[in-house]
Amino acid sequence: MTVTKIGVVGCAGRMGRMNVSAILENDAATLAGGTEHPESEWIGRDMGTLVSGAPVGLAVGGDPAPLFVASDVVVDFTSAVVADLHIKHALESKTPLLLGTTGLSVAQQAAVEEAAKEVAILQAANMSLGVNLLMILVEQAARVLNPDYDIEVVEMHHRHKVDAPSGTALALGQAAADGRTVALEEVAQKVREGITGARPRGEIGFATLRGGDVPGEHTVIFAGEGERIELTHKAGKRELFSQGAIKAALWLAGKPAGLYSMRDVLGI
Ligand code: NAD
Repeated sequence: MTVTKIGVVGCAGRMGRMNVSAILENDAATLAGGTEHPESEWIGRDMGTLVSGAPVGLAVGGDPAPLFVASDVVVDFTSAVVADLHIKHALESKTPLLLGTTGLSVAQQAAVEEAAKEVAILQAANMSLGVNLLMILVEQAARVLNPDYDIEVVEMHHRHKVDAPSGTALALGQAAADGRTVALEEVAQKVREGITGARPRGEIGFATLRGGDVPGEHTVIFAGEGERIELTHKAGKRELFSQGAIKAALWLAGKPAGLYSMRDVLGI
């Protein structure tokens, strides 16, 4: 059996630790190493201490360059602030990159699409089968229900999340916009406050809740006259995302240049 060497940038983060753990538990994968922010207290410590305390013989690094060279694929759940850096290293090393980080700017998104012409990049705002299925259902519902049905995307995440609306909420909004063949940026309403006036027909609204330790909940509402359809996904545990991430990383290793999604991995 081929064993795929997977590198983890941001390995001491909430998702990073889960990913390290999922790699160590998967016979088809081996840990190539991991990096953290150069000022992190984890630099130099054995990666095993991130998850269980048992040493694995790999120290947390501060330089992504050697990690990208040593890996068949690198998994990135860090911060939009460092997305450019990791895209640059993927391009230089031609190492496929699994990009789970959300909150990318329009310019960063364009850079991802440009880089994917030269290296394989799988970008997914959500790694779960359920959410990717939900996106298909939302697209279908939006196609069937005309703009008399107001679309609202409601999401809730833990108190530590730094971007809003969530990447998954935006992807669900995009799925709804695709179903209606409209451009999301022209119909999206991400914040409401004060005297907003009546709701414009065709708008896709977003509402963001933050609190506690919620791993991620999303509901897409289609509110019509006299009836309302609600499509909901609730993630019960963060492992859902790391198991999906490692499955996707194994799929991505060795793939030619291109921009892939979880739908490619899941075949849906
Ligand atoms: P987190 O803050 O717990 O972890 C981020 C880690 O990245 C931290 O440990 C931080 O020190 C590290 N980091 C920062 N700068 C770095 C650098 N220069 N080099 C290496 N590491 C660096 O956040 P989290 O909850 O793990 O989420 C991380 C990202 O993943 C967010 O964008 C979040 O929205 C996204 N996310 C995606 C999914 C999905 O399924 N696609 C699921 C959960 C979270």
